[in-house]
Amino acid sequence: MGQKGDCDMTDKKLIFGYQTFRAQHWPRFRELYERLTRDGQKPKAMILACADSRVDPATIFSAAPGDLFVCRNVANIVPPYASDRGLHSTEAGLEFAVNGLKVEHIVLMGHGQCGGIEALLQTDALEGEPPTEFIHRWVALAAPALRLVLEKYKDRPRRELQLLLEEENIRLGLSRLMTYPFIRQRIESGEMALHGWHFSVADGILMRLNPETDCFEPVR
Ligand SMILES: [Zn+2]
Repeated sequence: MGQKGDCDMTDKKLIFGYQTFRAQHWPRFRELYERLTRDGQKPKAMILACADSRVDPATIFSAAPGDLFVCRNVANIVPPYASDRGLHSTEAGLEFAVNGLKVEHIVLMGHGQCGGIEALLQTDALEGEPPTEFIHRWVALAAPALRLVLEKYKDRPRRELQLLLEEENIRLGLSRLMTYPFIRQRIESGEMALHGWHFSVADGILMRLNPETDCFEPVR
């Protein structure tokens, strides 16, 4: 594809990144890649995260190839379980991780300054046609989290609402995961655990939802 200007620079940066990978990363992990080719992948954890460029799970968790099965979408949303004939990307990832790979953990990870959550906050003020073709309709899947936050905290400043909604979206996602029969069955048999985490882009701090207190607490 012939592109000019900034695209050209991006292209060069990607190629340079690949060359660095081949020169440094590949020799170091070559045996691991060979083993993963021979034996297949057996990650113990699935991470469901936002597509945001600042919250790459492999970077945050210092993961090696084969460690993490990662699914990312805008605003790390778990769609409601729907056993219909529609096309379900995130659900397909969940099904493969749980039934195919038999992961032992699903981590639902939200993050600070999430643009998808910002769009969800805007939807409250919107009437009529949404301003984007796909984004606003997608994030509206998390409308129950928005309603709850606006009911409980409507007088809080916008910046606080953003964080509260990022957290509530994680709680909503975890409760929805429990309505997927193949997930619920593995949780109840003790073969798998669910986790709700939030990563702050501003200070690099990871918070973990404590199911006992229903509060997010920093990971030490
Ligand atoms: Zn995001």
